[in-house]
Amino acid sequence: MTYVPLIQRKLAFCAVLLILTPALIPTRLVAQIHRACANGVSLRSTAGTAAQGSLLPTEVVAPKTISNVTSEWDGHPAPLWRESQNSLTLHGLLGVDLEKAPGQYEWKVSWPGPNGDAEFCSVTITVRPGKFATERLTVEQKFVQPDPEQEKRAEEDQKKMRAIYDTVTPERLWDGKFQFPLKGVTTGGNFGRRRILNGEARSPHAGVDFPAAAGTAVFASQSGKVVLAENLYYSGNTVVLDHGYGIYTMYAHLSKIGVQPDEMVKVGAEIGKVGATGRVTGPHLHWGLTINHARVNAIQIAQRQP
Ligand SMILES: [Zn+2]
Repeated sequence: MTYVPLIQRKLAFCAVLLILTPALIPTRLVAQIHRACANGVSLRSTAGTAAQGSLLPTEVVAPKTISNVTSEWDGHPAPLWRESQNSLTLHGLLGVDLEKAPGQYEWKVSWPGPNGDAEFCSVTITVRPGKFATERLTVEQKFVQPDPEQEKRAEEDQKKMRAIYDTVTPERLWDGKFQFPLKGVTTGGNFGRRRILNGEARSPHAGVDFPAAAGTAVFASQSGKVVLAENLYYSGNTVVLDHGYGIYTMYAHLSKIGVQPDEMVKVGAEIGKVGATGRVTGPHLHWGLTINHARVNAIQIAQRQP
């Protein structure tokens, strides 16, 4: 038996706790990072580091006299909102895209100072590599190359999705906690999985897959507006919900779509049934979460309390 010094065992135990922590973000933000800025403004972040594909809840506390506080992350405006009108706390949710290069980035916050000039303050967030499975497959070349017609269709789908994610609805359409889209299912897999086909890297798997029987009811994980309800080449029958402030959830491979574009849905409303449409090997629900263009692990938003 190898002798392991006590201190090392203690460290290993701490490491286990650290790994478990992101799943246990409590109701009120426990700030690891607390930055005091000018004009009585302070910035808080649940952590100073975040893995690729994760969510980082943040807060800005600003005196009542300051309005128009804005924030920026990953080259995009990162909306801030108040839970109640008179609250001094603004909440934000930073998404770290699953392919964001590891390194140091700034979450920048700005507001008008007393003399009207813009004031700035920022927090450095270190992005570390996510732990994703890699799948290497060797198949006949003809299966790797889609035919031109399919390729054209997939490209059009992609354009449509980009236009959706480029739109930021400047209001909060959700209320309370985000929920899992299937009843009683809280674990799913494949998020961030890298696939290498014949030595060539393909785009990573951006959602969470939940195996389920075809026909199982799929529910809206939050209230929002249906911005897409149609058949796409890769994701089959697909529903995309806009929850406001750049937060979108996607439900793919459905056997049946139960909503119409532009319809407003309530959290927990049935929006379709599990199926095996699109490019799949069997029935399952693919659930995606995009926050201001960042593709993140949807399970984290359902585990996070409002
Ligand atoms: Zn999937």
